[in-house]
Amino acid sequence: MSPEAKTAALLVLNAGSSSLKFAVFAVEGRGLTQRYDGQMESIGAAPHFNLRDAAGARIAERQFAAGEAPKGHEGALSVILGALTPLLDGATIRAIGHRVVHGGRDLSAPVMITDAIMAKLRALVPLAPLHQPHNLAGIEAAARHFPGVPQIACFDTAFHRTQSYAAASFALPPRFFDQGILRYGFHGLSYEYIARRLEAEDAALGRARLVVAHLGNGASLCAIEGGQSRATTMGFTALDGVPMGTRSGQLDPGVVLHMLDSLQMKSADIAHLLYHESGLKGMSGISQDVRAIEAAGTEAAEAALDHFAFRVRREIGALAASIGGIDALVFTAGIGENAHGVRTRICAGLGFLGIHLDPEANVANCPEIGRTGDPVRVLIRHTDEEAMIAEHALAMINSC
Ligand code: ADP
Repeated sequence: MSPEAKTAALLVLNAGSSSLKFAVFAVEGRGLTQRYDGQMESIGAAPHFNLRDAAGARIAERQFAAGEAPKGHEGALSVILGALTPLLDGATIRAIGHRVVHGGRDLSAPVMITDAIMAKLRALVPLAPLHQPHNLAGIEAAARHFPGVPQIACFDTAFHRTQSYAAASFALPPRFFDQGILRYGFHGLSYEYIARRLEAEDAALGRARLVVAHLGNGASLCAIEGGQSRATTMGFTALDGVPMGTRSGQLDPGVVLHMLDSLQMKSADIAHLLYHESGLKGMSGISQDVRAIEAAGTEAAEAALDHFAFRVRREIGALAASIGGIDALVFTAGIGENAHGVRTRICAGLGFLGIHLDPEANVANCPEIGRTGDPVRVLIRHTDEEAMIAEHALAMINSC
């Protein structure tokens, strides 16, 4: 850490099923500067650790052989802290911010973690069985390593709690909504980060009608008006909406009933199919990675990319309709920020909304890729969920 940043730092943890991502921010006055980030991948198999400085240069890397692998998230955190401690140079960790996928209906903002909050978050495990237990394991591991240090949970669902009943409900008898069967939406920390950054760079964008396309391995889109979520493509789970790397996206529920009743498939097999064997990977038969699919150029690869683009385009139109128009379309996350060919496929046919790409700017992944003079701006912005979590954590400790 630089000498002026010696005294205080924030740690951000993002615990997934087999990974623990982290970022360290120096607290400088009321501002934050990212110093390090990295992750432990393949926890439970053949863990791989890497640590990068703020410029993205790799400063530590380790592949663990069988037998010396750190155990679970707790072991991963020990390795991470072992590498970070000398770099922190005596800085005090003021707080730890955690990404937590599900905050349920009630938690519409970040919260300080207490025993009562942990009980609430455990009760939400059935709503996000693939993610929530790992998020909570990260919190428990951090609590053991840093007793007494404030821990703050930031939720992927929270940003969407501004949606109307019409947007958040399913057309089921209301008792199902009352028992929590509703559209929660996800990727909220990414949308909040993008909305805040756009507002900071241009007040008009803060008031604007935005459709943000977060297209990564997980993919969703969100209609944002005046900085607030009005509608989003993911619903009760992170399976709904557009196709993803390996997830199917929206499916007629009758397909699932048919698989259960007529094809006699087990629910666990259907879950595996829909979460891990569908989407770009399932349709292309090649990979979940757009780069590999584009390089393959097979008929199935083309069909997968066309379907992905068709569904994203359709959702852009639907989300624009949900907020009465669109002032800016924003692409973010791995595919959104980098895959110019996919953006070209998506935007072809959106001319009726006033959306046209500037081909040169698009190929160069420029921040502004729409045609000059068009009524709708088309933007690329890098998302940073860890920075959003750090901002929330700082705001919370400053308010205590
Ligand atoms: P995650 O949801 O895991 O955070 P990312 O936002 O990192 O995912 O997106 C990862 C995906 O982005 C990759 O699987 C790949 O499809 C796509 N991607 C990343 N870089 C490029 C690139 N340069 N060109 C095309 N696609 C890319």
